[in-house]
Amino acid sequence: MASLPSVFISHGSPMHALDPGAAGEAWRALGLSLPKPRAVVIASAHWETDPPMLTGAAKPQTIHDFSGFPEPLYRLRYAAPGAPEVAQRAQSLLKAQGFAAAIDGNRGLDHGAWAPLLYMYPKADIPVVQISVQPASGPRHHVEVGRSLKTLSEEGVLIIGSGHMTHNLRDWARGAGKPQPYAREFSDWVREKMEKRDLEALADYRSLAPHAARAHPTEEHFLPLFFALGASGQQGNPERIYDGIEGGVLAMDSYVFH
Ligand code: ZN
Repeated sequence: MASLPSVFISHGSPMHALDPGAAGEAWRALGLSLPKPRAVVIASAHWETDPPMLTGAAKPQTIHDFSGFPEPLYRLRYAAPGAPEVAQRAQSLLKAQGFAAAIDGNRGLDHGAWAPLLYMYPKADIPVVQISVQPASGPRHHVEVGRSLKTLSEEGVLIIGSGHMTHNLRDWARGAGKPQPYAREFSDWVREKMEKRDLEALADYRSLAPHAARAHPTEEHFLPLFFALGASGQQGNPERIYDGIEGGVLAMDSYVFH
């Protein structure tokens, strides 16, 4: 079986689940464009742990990990099955590379996972395993975690990192939708380095990229990109499938690494 590409998605506000907008349409088109996977392993910025953790539930719950949103959002369920055997396979691949990976049999899917999957796989018929991010461990660690799971993409599993290209919620809250050029300047720098396969510069983005600390006051929403890059084996040709900017500052660039 040919290896599946890996994917990075900027997942935006949970409101996309009720109102897809252009991002939802891009996710729908993405799901249709990819070969049908036998399962998805998705890293979400909204699950932060010290060691890599994987969901092991056969029927993962839908977690509504946000507050202050309209009531219908809390009724929404994404009922995709889990894939306990894929979680175990991922755990053994990670352990073989020295990661103290573990499985959480109770944890469900948070909106970083289910908001885009709702559009990519609206029938909820593709089993999903979520994997956590490790904010204390930085970009290179996430490249290695993704690389350790590349074998899965050769076994029909789609590897996705779900975070954000820029993610400064303070700017978003006080900006009232006023566009800030830094979001595009940062995203374009990332795009240029990805097209040059300059993983070293990307991993050092905090000191090299323009406006890095403003684009990501904390790193958790950027780390899933490194996970996806690692899973692409660095051979991947980055195709930007969406480049909207939410509220003027939250760049939603999303990529397929072919
Ligand atoms: Zn988020």
